[in-house]
Amino acid sequence: MKENPAMQKILDNMKPGVISLHGFLGDDKRDLETIIDHDTGELERLKIDREQIALKLEEIRDLALKGLGNFVTVQEGYLAKADSIRGKIPCPFGHKGVYGKTVVTIQKKSTGEEMSYTDLGIHLVREHGFFQGKGTLFRLEPEALAELL
Ligand SMILES: [Zn+2]
Repeated sequence: MKENPAMQKILDNMKPGVISLHGFLGDDKRDLETIIDHDTGELERLKIDREQIALKLEEIRDLALKGLGNFVTVQEGYLAKADSIRGKIPCPFGHKGVYGKTVVTIQKKSTGEEMSYTDLGIHLVREHGFFQGKGTLFRLEPEALAELL
């Protein structure tokens, strides 16, 4: 990756404790561009796109919010719950605006596997094709998302 001041600022924002307590890259040793390129390739392979994923995550968030913190069925084979957390955080890529911190957790009934995301996570997928680093709390695996769609 070409080092430039703008990119350095983004990488600084992604460190633990700057915008989010745990940061956005986890223990992923790959650089940001490589992470994004790899997931972009995964989406192509799975024949799904970012907007489609973002819309689905919003739909599930809205259904989950009705459960007021309890797991509710959001679609065949899937439960989800939303934990409202006060406050808003900015995008690490430096966009204007702030995003909600409500945490949505989706659980696949058959396996108990879970994935979690926030409003910022939806934005990162939609606008940046960024699904976060491996080992983060809010990493979204394209493969698991494809199963949801
Ligand atoms: Zn952004």
